[in-house]
Order: sequence, then C-alpha cells, then structure tokens
Amino acid sequence: MTARILVVDDIPANVRLLEVRLLAEYFEVLTANNGPDAIETCENGKVDVVLLDVMMPDMDGFEVCKRLKSDPATSHIPVVMITALDQVSDRVRGLEAGADDFLTKPVNDLQLMTRVKSLVRLKSLTDELRLRASTTRNIGIEELLSRDFATEDAKPRVLLIDERKTSVERIQKMLRNTAELDVATDPNAGFFQAAETAYECVLISTAFSDFDALRLCSQLRSLDRTRFLPIMLLADEGEEGRILRGLELGINDYLIRPIDQHELTARLRTQVRRKRYNDQLRASVAQTIEMAVIDGLTGLHNRRYLDSHLQTLFDRAVARRRPLSVMITDLDRFKSINDTHGHDGGDDVLREFARRLRKNVRGIDLACRFGGEEFVVVMPDTDGAVAEKVAERIRAEIAQAAFAIGADGKAIEVTVSVGVSSLLKGTDSVAALMKRADLALYEAKSGGRNRVVAKAA
Ligand SMILES: [Mg+2]
Repeated sequence: MTARILVVDDIPANVRLLEVRLLAEYFEVLTANNGPDAIETCENGKVDVVLLDVMMPDMDGFEVCKRLKSDPATSHIPVVMITALDQVSDRVRGLEAGADDFLTKPVNDLQLMTRVKSLVRLKSLTDELRLRASTTRNIGIEELLSRDFATEDAKPRVLLIDERKTSVERIQKMLRNTAELDVATDPNAGFFQAAETAYECVLISTAFSDFDALRLCSQLRSLDRTRFLPIMLLADEGEEGRILRGLELGINDYLIRPIDQHELTARLRTQVRRKRYNDQLRASVAQTIEMAVIDGLTGLHNRRYLDSHLQTLFDRAVARRRPLSVMITDLDRFKSINDTHGHDGGDDVLREFARRLRKNVRGIDLACRFGGEEFVVVMPDTDGAVAEKVAERIRAEIAQAAFAIGADGKAIEVTVSVGVSSLLKGTDSVAALMKRADLALYEAKSGGRNRVVAKAA
C-alpha cells in the first residue's frame, strides 16, 4: 500500500522521527513545520493522511484540523492528531475539531502503522467515489461536498453487541440522548441483526465468555451489506494486541474501559458523520451514472452511451480482425399508435418492445434507445449473416403476439422494420457503418415495413 502522508510538527526532530519510520514502510512523506504550511499542502492535493501535532505555536493542531475539516476541498483527508499526553479532554477537543484518530507521544510503531494503513484504505474508497462523481459531468461535486448533510439532526441507529448486563446498562445510559440504541447479548444473533437492519454504527464488546469478538468483526466486514458499517470495539485495558488485530481486520475505532461518555459520543459522531458522507456520495454517484447512460423509459442504454462506446467496439473489432454488426430498428407507424392511444399507450409499446428486444440479444450486445421509436443494437463478434438472423427473430417476435397497453391491457398489433449493416474489410468507419444500416432501414420501410433488410458486408 502506497500513500502520501503529511507530517506536521513544529519540532524538526519529531518530524524526522516519524518520517524515517514511514519511509521504512514505503510511504511517501511530505512535511510541514506549522499550521498554515500544512493547510496549503493539503489544498494542493495529493495528501492521503495528515499526522498532526497538537501543540504548535501560533496556530495549534485543533485549529488546523478545524480549518481542514471545514473546507470542502480538504474535508475528506483523514487527520490523526498526535497528543503529548493521553488526555481525554484533548481527545474530545480533537474529535470535536473533526479529527479521525489519535496517537499519543511517544508514538507506538505498530499503532502508527495500523492506524495510518486503515485510514489510507478508507481514504482510497472516498477518493474513488469522489473521482467517479466528478467525472460524471452534470453533477456539481463541489456543491455536493459542501452541502451539509444534516448529520447532527438525526439520531443514529446503533447496535450494541455485548453480553455483560452492567456494561450494557452503562452504555445505554451514556447514549440515551444521542443514539437510538438496540442491544444484542448473543454475538451470533447480533451478527444477523446487524445484517438485517440499517444501523449506522455497531459497538462490539471484546468481553464475551465464549466467543471471539474479532470473528464477528471479520464476518461483518466480509458480508456485502455490512461492509461499510462502522465498527467500534469496546476493549479492556491490556488488550492492545487484540485491538491492533481488529484494526487490521477493518474495525474503525475502539474505546478502552472505563469508557468516557464524552469520548464515546464524540467518536460515535465521527463514525456516523463519515458513513453518512460516503453513503450520500455513493448514492449520488450511482444515480448520476445511471441517469447519464440509461434511458429512463425503457431501461436500455441511451444514445449518449452508444455514442461513447460504439467507436471503442468498432476499433476493437478492427484491431482483432473480428466481425461486427449493427442493427437499427424502427417501430412501424408509431405516430398513429400515439395518436390513437395517447402517449401513455405509446410509452407502454416502447417498454414492451424494449423488453422483447432485450430478450433476443446477448449480454455482450449493446442495445440502446437511439431516440423516439428508434433502437440500435451493436453486436460484437457477429457477421452479417448471423446479424440478419437475429434481426429476423426480433421482427417475428414483435409481429407474432399483440402488445398489451394501458390499465385494461388492450391488445394492439405492432410491427418493426430493421436495417442491418456489418463491418467491411478494408476501409470502414463508424459513420459509414451507421449510414449503411440507416439506408437498409429506409429500404425496409419503403419496401412495405415489417421486414429486415441487410447490407451485405
Ligand atoms: Mg509541538
């Protein structure tokens, strides 16, 4: 795992100490000796994790963290605060400033590496989502990121998996006002409950009499539905080895008993905030991608998708000397269907046509709604003779059974004309290929409709 770590400390010797250890693990290291420099480096991008000293003259670590977290351009960069003393009050202040984690000086090597690695993993997930979101052009990614997701408003739904009654009661009391807390006392039941309910965080005790809590963590990480569910481990003093193994398995955070209420609520808030941020990002990316390439009415790909992929399929076929065919289909007298049965009736016809079309093409074929009542199917590895047979099968499938439209399922006859063209040996182009298919379609129409015309290769 390679990543760029920014080390911020006012004392050069401290910077050097961390730098050497990180370089030994093949991380790339950037350094800064004060807050403003650190912020500038982050703004210039390409920082994956910040290790931030708390005690610095002029601008202290809390202030640096607060500024990084309030700027949409840097708020997604994980910040690890490095405190001189293991002060709970410092930790709480840091969490309130938006810090993702803490390390205490002198920094324990193993802890440093596991924390950095776990945050780098998380960051790369967020980066991928941000990248996908920003490459889909019609989304205002900065607007999205600066939007307040109202995280403080809604109480998070949290699951506590813990078999000790006194411990359960204590946590229930601590979270009474900040979370909707469910409790599972049996770890196996807790696993299923976590998988079945939309929790925003799960707290897992390490203190089961007859069960390894880490097994539960690893099960939750490997299940699709709980892969992104934040896990916080509630451990006892002296369980450092276990916590480190937990971090390697992908737990997000931990608390050591006796648990401090402020620290618990602050850490929980951080986990929930991050999860909501990533969930929003993920949903928005998925929705934008879908809107960008899918035709809303039929669920087939749209013309934009065809335009961006046809050239690739064409180039691939030419390079591999493989055949490639294209068919353009056009519903016959569609205007009169619309006129007679209204646009809703017309939409029903288009949907049913798309369904039958999809049924008759292969997974590797690219079927698109080209516009209006025109559909295009691109068929890789398919020569003209086979393409013509496929086209004929589709034509027959449309003509042989009436279409049911409207709420009462009124049956109407629909037919389709199809033009087919195939890649020519020698010089050919996407435009020429499409033009030949279009000409063939024109011939099918003028020849009486409900027929296939193929332009032989
Ligand atoms: Mg300092």
